Amino acid sequence: MSDDKRAIDPWNSTLPADYETLMAEFGIEPITDELISAFPSTHRLLRRKVEFGHRDLLRIVDSIRRNEAYAVMSGIKPTGEFHLGTMMTAEEIIFYQSLSDKSVAHYCIADLEAFADNGIPLEESHEIAVGNVADLLALGLDYKRAYIYKQSEERLVQKLAFIFSTAVTFNMLEAIYGPKQIKYYLSALIQVGDIMLPQTEEYGGPKPVLVPVGIDQDPHIRLSRDIAKKFKFVPPSAVFHKLTRSLLGEEKMSKRNPMSMMTLSDDPKLAERKIWSALTGGRGTVEEQRRLGGEPEKCVVFELMTNHFIDDDDELRKIYWECKTGARLCGDCKSQLADIVSSFLRKHQQKKEGLMDLARNIVEGER
Ligand code: SF4
Repeated sequence: MSDDKRAIDPWNSTLPADYETLMAEFGIEPITDELISAFPSTHRLLRRKVEFGHRDLLRIVDSIRRNEAYAVMSGIKPTGEFHLGTMMTAEEIIFYQSLSDKSVAHYCIADLEAFADNGIPLEESHEIAVGNVADLLALGLDYKRAYIYKQSEERLVQKLAFIFSTAVTFNMLEAIYGPKQIKYYLSALIQVGDIMLPQTEEYGGPKPVLVPVGIDQDPHIRLSRDIAKKFKFVPPSAVFHKLTRSLLGEEKMSKRNPMSMMTLSDDPKLAERKIWSALTGGRGTVEEQRRLGGEPEKCVVFELMTNHFIDDDDELRKIYWECKTGARLCGDCKSQLADIVSSFLRKHQQKKEGLMDLARNIVEGER
């Protein structure tokens, strides 16, 4: 088994060393320019191939073309504040939801998984979920065409997981996830229930479902597609994004080191400090940087601009070439990004504050 194969573990995600090997190993299709141009509009994550791979994404393109129903489904494990990784998934749901008025978004609050994996009691994750949903709404989800629910309270998901358990063996689960405690296998079956929920009669019957996820979640997609075939559902489609590095350039963001990750609740001043201490691809001295240029490919600051904070492709290209040719220093980038991020956070937090009551009503099933 390759290192990459071990790296795709939904409960312990590390960055794969080589996305291409991973795709070849697991039969993930690349996102091509032709595929991108088949969508009625694009998003920076697609254009820049941050969304780098997919399974059956054409099925969603076809639904959009034919003006037929499809669902976009994802969720959050309510263990803490929205961070840049969860923001990326939220942006994807919002984008794919926006492409057709025949789409519906399903957003699952994976509180059972937060309990199983992180030991967070349901009452505690409930409060976290209210904040998470307010973030999602503030980012622009059309909640009137969305179903947002907690796993612990959606009986149909639990029922589906139980039914699906009749079609899997311990060996199958171990082959996909490796040897794990039963709680992880149960969580996996619950997730399959979440993914299949939009296709139940109660939610309009079989239809294409797109799941935008980090590549570490592919084991759930593979299991869901196997089970879908056995139960006559449409195998779910998936689009995979690259995993977000820590601000300090480590493979994993660590909640133990708050300087390594940015959340949407960070005080804007603190967020600015985090940017100033983030890893760059700069050289040891100004003289060297002017002479050799920087290395944006290694730079977390440039990654933040690419993945999250600069929409304008021309602007990003300009930054790239100024860096490569030594016309730009890391201080220029950090100062520019710090301004963008602090202004974004101020606006976002204000918007979120105004949506907390709505989010609570949604999470408590009163809307
Ligand atoms: Fe990164 Fe900007 Fe420094 Fe280049 S100049 S390495 S893009 S921070």
